[in-house]
Amino acid sequence: MIPTDLAGIEQAVATGALPGWDRVEELVVEAHRRHSADDSGAVADYIPLLGAADPSLFGLAVVDASGGVHDAGDALHEFSIQSISKMFVYALAIQAHGHARVRDIVGVNNTGLAFNSVMALELNGGHPMNPMVNAGAIATTALMTGADADEKWERIRDGLSAFAGRELPFDDEVYHSEMKTNERNRALGRLLSSYGRLTGDSDEIVDVYTRQCALNVTAHDLAVMGATLADGGVNPVTGERVVSADVCRDTLAVVAASGLYERSGEWLFEIGLPAKSGVSGGIVAVSPGKGAAGAFSPRLDSAGNSVRAQLAIGHLSRSLGLNLFASAPQARDAREGR
Ligand code: GLN
Repeated sequence: MIPTDLAGIEQAVATGALPGWDRVEELVVEAHRRHSADDSGAVADYIPLLGAADPSLFGLAVVDASGGVHDAGDALHEFSIQSISKMFVYALAIQAHGHARVRDIVGVNNTGLAFNSVMALELNGGHPMNPMVNAGAIATTALMTGADADEKWERIRDGLSAFAGRELPFDDEVYHSEMKTNERNRALGRLLSSYGRLTGDSDEIVDVYTRQCALNVTAHDLAVMGATLADGGVNPVTGERVVSADVCRDTLAVVAASGLYERSGEWLFEIGLPAKSGVSGGIVAVSPGKGAAGAFSPRLDSAGNSVRAQLAIGHLSRSLGLNLFASAPQARDAREGR
């Protein structure tokens, strides 16, 4: 565990802002245009219904922390949120239980293994390690408050809808398609139970987890949801406070470490932003204080991350100055003022 002694120290914040609306609009349109011809990768089909997605779809959206909205291409096309739900349910769980408790139960370190790895769980004595892989996400869903599975599900649906600023529709067909083929997630749930790391009925929890993955979003929704985490927990479009600023900080740290599964280190190195992907082809990337990008295109690389979404967000990270690690020397007069 990292030693910390932060009691009584106020969280100070120092972040910049995005360029003006017109410039952001121009860059979003440009990023979309530049990567629309790329047709590498393959549509996921381990959940049968996902295999039917139209691979030519490509949506891109940016929402800035002051509520400015930019959509390009198929930004309003709906798809199931899948793994991207993990980060928002995690935020809701921290909001309910606090930083330390969720850290201890679910963990915050990358597994270095695939999102649905059973081995990762075995290697770590049944500790899921982080909430962005399936085992940790199932353990996080189990932490949702509510007397039973239905109440947990309602709170997840309401919470994710508050992040998006609209009631997110549930895709019954995707849910049933995944329920027929999710033995692996059920196995992860049972393993967690066998290690005493999941309270409640594991099949019921996996059912709720599968429901949360079947909520429909658009690239535009993802950008609004991400921008809520970029805006200290207040949805910049609706003005609603969804979670606290501390919860946003905690969530984005974990997303940075593990949001693109075993490629997370490479992603941070190349693109420099916390981002979360899902197998239906969505990615959301968040630049704290500035805003967020949502992208969608169904063709995935071998780690299960959308190729075009990675390209477009990488483009925007650079052109919009979203990369967390980029800096330029301060102007001379600012130095002289010291
Ligand atoms: N529902 C999917 C699963 O659990 C989500 C995985 C993903 O998007 N990577 O397998």
